[in-house]
Amino acid sequence: MTLNAPALFDLSHRIAIVTGAGSGIGQRIALGLAQCGADVACIDRRTDGGLDETLSMIAQTGRKAIAIAADVTDRAALEAAVTRTEAELGPLGIAVNAAGIANANPAEEMSEEQYQTLMDINMKGVFFSCQAQARAMLTHGKGSIINIASMSGVIVNRGLNQVHYNASKAGVIHMSKSMAMEWVGRGIRVNSISPGYTATPMNTRPEMVHQTKDFESQTPMQRMARVDEMVGPAVFLASDASSYCTGVDLLVDGGFCCW
Ligand code: NAP
Repeated sequence: MTLNAPALFDLSHRIAIVTGAGSGIGQRIALGLAQCGADVACIDRRTDGGLDETLSMIAQTGRKAIAIAADVTDRAALEAAVTRTEAELGPLGIAVNAAGIANANPAEEMSEEQYQTLMDINMKGVFFSCQAQARAMLTHGKGSIINIASMSGVIVNRGLNQVHYNASKAGVIHMSKSMAMEWVGRGIRVNSISPGYTATPMNTRPEMVHQTKDFESQTPMQRMARVDEMVGPAVFLASDASSYCTGVDLLVDGGFCCW
């Protein structure tokens, strides 16, 4: 039979979960999955503000969306979110884990609390999310999990004192490969996307306001990514277009890691 290439990217009748769906990359990917046909459970730590906006944007696509307040450091809340998603939308097939935080401090001054809080959200939160999602997907014998890592898991950002963030993202990349190999024979693919500098609220935190110009000039494409530019890679990894990809870290960085 002839391959219908455009249909490879069709997400109709797929059910997705997106964490960090109330802002930035997670919000845009949640909308992108819906635009390709998926119904989406949108998770963030609060249901007010951003998640309301995500739901109203998805409503305009004609797809279903639900908002769930869950902290990714809370394992029970993530399990409950998967249960609710399956009860209200159907069998879970796609998960995008974008919830994360960033901050900075010189390594010699960083408190245990600052280190641990970030690690709990960025690394343990991704692991708990994957665990809850995979438990459901394993019962269906299929699924695609995409973890949002960062080019900071591959390189060290010049001028940014964020040892804990960089380590957490290297952890997400390798955790994704490890889970990909654990589940490779059972229908679940696990990949990561590593964005370069992307224009989202995360980059408006006070210590970064003056660094945007540096980010642009250090990037071979001479600009930051638009949040829209994370959608294509996510749809690719979520869909049948990437059926032979697992354990991949897809750098979406404007060429940053080449230099
Ligand atoms: P963002 O706009 O701040 O969005 C992150 C979302 O995650 C926010 O809605 C945030 O809620 C939520 N979140 C944080 N901690 C959470 C928790 N414990 N439980 C549930 N939700 C939580 O940031 P972004 O730039 O889109 O970042 C998304 C992902 O991309 C992150 O993993 C980030 O590390 C990664 N990334 C970003 C860039 C970049 O340049 N922007 C580059 C590489 C990788 P609150 O607003 O309440 O904190």
